[in-house]
Amino acid sequence: MLKLTEETIETIVNSIVDLILSNQGKYQKNSEGGGQSGKIDNELFWESYIKRVDPHEKRYIEIVNKDLNKLSGEVFTKIEVYPDDTDKWKFDKKKWIGEFAEIEATFLVKLYKQEGQKAIDEALKLARKKKSIKAEIPISIAFDLFNPLVKEELLKQTTRFPAGLINTTEEIIRGTIATGIEAGESIDKLADRVMERLGDEANRNRAEMIARSETIYGSNAGAEMGYMQSGVVEGKQWLTSIDERSCIECELMNNRTASLGESFNIRDIDLNFDYTDGEMPVPPLHCNCRCTIIPLIIKV
Ligand SMILES: [Zn+2]
Repeated sequence: MLKLTEETIETIVNSIVDLILSNQGKYQKNSEGGGQSGKIDNELFWESYIKRVDPHEKRYIEIVNKDLNKLSGEVFTKIEVYPDDTDKWKFDKKKWIGEFAEIEATFLVKLYKQEGQKAIDEALKLARKKKSIKAEIPISIAFDLFNPLVKEELLKQTTRFPAGLINTTEEIIRGTIATGIEAGESIDKLADRVMERLGDEANRNRAEMIARSETIYGSNAGAEMGYMQSGVVEGKQWLTSIDERSCIECELMNNRTASLGESFNIRDIDLNFDYTDGEMPVPPLHCNCRCTIIPLIIKV
């Protein structure tokens, strides 16, 4: 059986990311937006953020769902061919790592471009309103998708995503079989259990959860890179979503600040599970979190 090492995953993801980046045409310059004041209206900022990223999330749910169903189909075929041998109820990990890495990288490139550019436009607009800034602020800067930091971030997220998804799927199959065996269930019952856990409804729920997290993380990471490229932002401030103000953890995060490229302090936040190893560069803080970040303009 093929054992997937970290290097194998990295090699697959690297070549996919290179291919997707090389397919990006010359980036079109965006024109700057309007705006009256040098201060951010937090509610408006968040509403417009959600309005922009929601369509990405909705489309990604469908794409992830379709691939999860295809992956389940592969497992179901194995169950049909080897109904008595649970060891053979598996899927081609290498193929699926590649498949999910490709959809993730394609999705992220679009999100980074959109939110990175929006972040630059917003930052330049705010900086120009600040009278204390003596230096001349450019009217517009095009987001550079080929900046090394962008590729680094793209590789990080694209590697983490399929590895997590594949491991979870394996764990669902292994765990479901183990639970059934422990309960003394027949092999038919075991097959039913696995097929339910990898069925349409379960996949839909998973796709929704995944698309939400990837959209919030990807869009905020894209914004942070845009702030870096703008040259007028020195830090980021956590903005808790309006529909989540009752979430104690996110409420505690609201208005916290951090330097660009650094993690927010989450040491005092009680998370059910910490999937970030204590690092929280950008939201989401947890599943279904829809928080974002706003720029802290440099003081001159
Ligand atoms: Zn949140």
